Amino acid sequence: MKDLLAEKFKKAKSKLILLDYDGTLVDYQKAPQDAIPSEKLLSFLLKLNDLPDTSLVIITGRAYSEIDGFIGTLPIDIVAEHGAMSRENGDWKELIRDKGDWKRNIIPVLDRFSTRCPGSFTEEKRFSLAWHYRNAELQTGISISRELIGALSEKARTMGLKITDGNKVVEVKKQGIDKGKGTQYLLEKRRYDFILAMGDDKTDEDMFEVLANKDDAFTIKVGVGDTLAKYRLDNVQDVILLLNELL
Ligand SMILES: [Mg+2]
Repeated sequence: MKDLLAEKFKKAKSKLILLDYDGTLVDYQKAPQDAIPSEKLLSFLLKLNDLPDTSLVIITGRAYSEIDGFIGTLPIDIVAEHGAMSRENGDWKELIRDKGDWKRNIIPVLDRFSTRCPGSFTEEKRFSLAWHYRNAELQTGISISRELIGALSEKARTMGLKITDGNKVVEVKKQGIDKGKGTQYLLEKRRYDFILAMGDDKTDEDMFEVLANKDDAFTIKVGVGDTLAKYRLDNVQDVILLLNELL
């Protein structure tokens, strides 16, 4: 796959590299705010972005303010909050409309489950809520998260919300916001004859699905688990090695 990727990349005239952040470019940390990119990673991303005819876009579920802080003033575009917000040439804009009134109904539920599951915590973003259990005892986290999903399902149905059962996180947001929509948005803006998309979690599957029948797209799942991606890599280190082939 590496050779084919590098060969197609060299021949292409308009290239898009779509990279998830957590678990793809950086390893997970106990606290999400600690997953700061190293200077080395940032300069590497900048080099990729500076390649001729190449756009690099970070596509993440993170709060826009957080990923904005991580990437800083580097001229790299970002799609954040699972496709709800986009940063182009340094300016943020909202890609969807949602006042977020639903959040005040869901936060108390998440907080109630947090008190029952030591180490878990709720994160509020502009367009979503996330209940993280990466710091909880694993079995407790898994079983309480099953209960949480059950407890939320009726509310979610009546309020038009979508629950995502992610990697040690349960996310709640309005239906119709996902990385697939974020990917479509980018594809409508410009034509590409090479696309590379990489991600490690359930939310990346929406991006892989949109790209599934595009011959020009390389989709790569990082880590284990079912996927719609065409290829697979083991971990963050392998992602960096592969991207290095493009320089
Ligand atoms: Mg990820």
